[in-house]
Amino acid sequence: MSDRRQDIRREVERARDEIVEFTAELVRVQSVNPPGRNYREAAETLGGKLAEFGFEVEYPTAEESPEHTAAYPRVNVVGLRRGAAPRPLLHLNGHLDVVPAGDGWTMDPFAGIVRDGRIYGRGTADMKAGIAAVVYAAECVKRAGVELGGSVEVSGTVDEESGGFAGAAFLCETGRLTRERVDHVIIPEPLGVDRICVGHRGVYWFEVTAHGRVAHGSMPFLGVSAIERMGRFLESVRTDLMPALARRTTRMPVVPEGARKATLNVNSILGGQAGETPQTPCVADRCSAIFDRRFLLEEGFEATKREIEALLEALGDGFELRDLMVVHPVQTPGDSPLIAALEKTIPEVVGREATLIASPGTYDHKHVTRIGGIDHCVAYGPGILELAHQVDEYCEIEDLVRSTEVLALTLFDLLGELR
Ligand SMILES: [Zn+2]
Repeated sequence: MSDRRQDIRREVERARDEIVEFTAELVRVQSVNPPGRNYREAAETLGGKLAEFGFEVEYPTAEESPEHTAAYPRVNVVGLRRGAAPRPLLHLNGHLDVVPAGDGWTMDPFAGIVRDGRIYGRGTADMKAGIAAVVYAAECVKRAGVELGGSVEVSGTVDEESGGFAGAAFLCETGRLTRERVDHVIIPEPLGVDRICVGHRGVYWFEVTAHGRVAHGSMPFLGVSAIERMGRFLESVRTDLMPALARRTTRMPVVPEGARKATLNVNSILGGQAGETPQTPCVADRCSAIFDRRFLLEEGFEATKREIEALLEALGDGFELRDLMVVHPVQTPGDSPLIAALEKTIPEVVGREATLIASPGTYDHKHVTRIGGIDHCVAYGPGILELAHQVDEYCEIEDLVRSTEVLALTLFDLLGELR
């Protein structure tokens, strides 16, 4: 190990308490989504630290987005620290929003409590520790006296938990996060200190509506029940579609193992009269259900949708299919220098070989690749994925420090040193 690498790791270790405190500071800003509370304060907390560390900071705000309101403005933050050259540019992107705390916590979810080697609170793992890690990775390289050849950029974006359209997607659409100016992107989602995430499956959310004909409930034979019709569709989903999906496995290293298959979840179903209203004797003339289909890179969206259409066609008239959301799968190229850099450094810092994984759900990677056109994007960050969105969420401080070291050395490897 060269002296440079030792110097960088030593600076990270020395900054341990600062990294923990900055994580706790971010957790104390209750940037809860929905509805998107305190985004400005969250962006400014990150932006203030970046400015202190020599970044040029701006606050791109998605004013045109439907989510942006006076009460809940969609404020993002981007900080750039120029190296000897503008390129290569490594962009580190974290989302500022957290899901609501929910009930059942044994402590204040927004106090940023440090106890037993852990930082507790909503968003510690997902993903404020990750944001602190990337900020200090860049700072500790500088503290080690290294002048980087390329440039480093850190962004904090909003709304990842609700699709990221006013956040990461907005940075891509406005030219900030595109292949024209950015070479590599690391997203510090909580995937574990020794795992590199190289993409995710696709999402197809759709609504099926069955139409019927209303009639008096005492003479149902005079009408057509939309609920019965929906029942026929659900039956063909169960007997035809589900077994077919269970036979399909992706080559992507999706975790957990069960998510390596194509899956479908019935999200909700609503038919006839609303449950809370007084019921009248009527045959239901309408029934809608919402489905969450996670498709594989190998399946593709077109075939995924066509399969649903074919099931509906086989059942005859009376159905309507509506797309609610489509997210295409993404995968980082296997020969990406980003993967190579992380694979080299993780064993050096953590003492274990790195594992390549893919995410069962999606994250902002899709925007970076699909809109920004940047292939070299991975997720790597501290925290345990399974703790995300749970009560008593926490991040191990040891993991936080180790992954900050990994990120700092990766930055050093990818951007090079001015000599
Ligand atoms: Zn997240």
